[in-house]
Amino acid sequence: MYTVHHVLSGQPFDGSAHGEGAITNPATGAVIGTVPFADAATVDAVVERAAAAAEIWGATSLSKRTEVLFAFRHLLLQRAEELVDVISTEHGKVRSDAHGELARGLENVEYACGLVEHLKGSFSAEVASGVDVHSSSRPLGVVVGITPFNFPAMVPLWMAANAIAAGNAFVLKPSEKDPSAAVILASIWREAGLPDGVFSVVHGDAATVQHLLAHDDVAAVSFVGSTPIAKSIYETGTKAGKRVQALGGAKNHMVVLPDADLDLAADAAVSAAYGSTGERCMAISVVVAVDPVGDALVEKLASRTAALVTGPASDPATQMGPLISAVHRTSVLGHVDAAVAAGATAVVDGRSILVPGHEEGFFVGPCLLDHVTTEMSAYDAEVFGPVLVVVRVPTFDAALALINANPYGNGTAIFTRDGGAARAFNDRVEVGMVGINVPIPVPVSSYSFGGWKDSLFGSHHIYGPEGFAFYTRTKVTTTRWPDPATSSVDLGFPRTR
Ligand code: NAD
Repeated sequence: MYTVHHVLSGQPFDGSAHGEGAITNPATGAVIGTVPFADAATVDAVVERAAAAAEIWGATSLSKRTEVLFAFRHLLLQRAEELVDVISTEHGKVRSDAHGELARGLENVEYACGLVEHLKGSFSAEVASGVDVHSSSRPLGVVVGITPFNFPAMVPLWMAANAIAAGNAFVLKPSEKDPSAAVILASIWREAGLPDGVFSVVHGDAATVQHLLAHDDVAAVSFVGSTPIAKSIYETGTKAGKRVQALGGAKNHMVVLPDADLDLAADAAVSAAYGSTGERCMAISVVVAVDPVGDALVEKLASRTAALVTGPASDPATQMGPLISAVHRTSVLGHVDAAVAAGATAVVDGRSILVPGHEEGFFVGPCLLDHVTTEMSAYDAEVFGPVLVVVRVPTFDAALALINANPYGNGTAIFTRDGGAARAFNDRVEVGMVGINVPIPVPVSSYSFGGWKDSLFGSHHIYGPEGFAFYTRTKVTTTRWPDPATSSVDLGFPRTR
């Protein structure tokens, strides 16, 4: 048993708490640690320290900031195994998947390493006679990141790398379900030479988040999590006068047109549906089979799905680990039960899987449901588990209408050999991230990540250029050096000509 601590001034900090949570190993069901839920006094202490650090860090030269970012990148690679250990133990994902999450997080650090370019302003000489204008990007101060359980290292890196590069102090409130990766990230920042207080960790629950949202010294909040919480964070944060970006949940559809290569489409759908046990916001959870492709496609999906190996991350043969909690397992099973009761066909049924030696683990085997309709909760809800549903539609237009009617708009994909159809899909689909023969179209770090509709609240996507825009405010300065001899009073509105 261990207790995870907050990080204040780069040091472990006990603080005071209004409660605590249990950290569970989802592969065994055993409680392995506890995490404190910071109370208002602890949040105050962390934010106050961050505010002091932000003043110094925001005035630190860009070259010094770059040096720290490069050192952080180097150490992140060196300490990857340590991070993978805690991620696979507390989250349950297989080690290759944990390495994948780190690799995608690292990309964001590398993008932030180019901060001198990203923070470059602009200059216009002679906008009026003897008048010049320049713009500069200034940090906001203290920015908060609130992150979900499913990417305990990557999502914090989406936020912190750019926020810190831009000269802010960053306070991380990680998921209480797998909080240890955040503490390791803090120690890597310290080792990289980041001044104490610029990266802090405060653990907690909903009440802790409310204290952060209410704090006067918090300028901006980046949130990633489920849609209902994203919406409420956006509403509460903006009402308190803060800049907020709140990324929510998803229901990602993958359309398979009749001309697609069905083996390629089936490989892609199975990989994207069951990777990380479906606990990814960019997982494919709905395959939209356009007539007459349904039967042949389902057959190919079924053989691949049935062959997947479910088990603990500690077994190298495992392809799919457990779900995050017993409560979540019950929820996932409930959606599958309801769909089957309402007439869906369980082509592959992983509901009663038993993993020898891990009977108390939160395992659900892969489930493939055919003939699913939009009234079923397995279609309607974000199941967030190893459940792939197949909806059959008659035409391309019907596929598009189905996706556009869905309240989520995070990711989507189309599989086809027809460039015209793919282009039309890309133009007409109401989704923020589109894959053409790419099932998980997570943008690289030089583009920004963000869904549409109920998958994102706020005007900025996360990381990449929009990340820098979110974490800075622009100052535009107009300058002239007139000859005092020509000066006079003029009440007219300043004109440029
Ligand atoms: P969650 O919404 O339950 O929790 C996210 C964070 O919010 C955690 O830090 C949690 O402690 C905090 N929180 C929980 N309840 C709260 C409340 N009532 N008030 C304030 N804060 C609260 O999400 P989760 O279960 O940890 O993560 C899974 C969800 O995240 C899925 O819906 C998934 O789609 C989504 N997600 C989205 C993206 C994206 O980029 N759009 C990426 C990853 C995950």
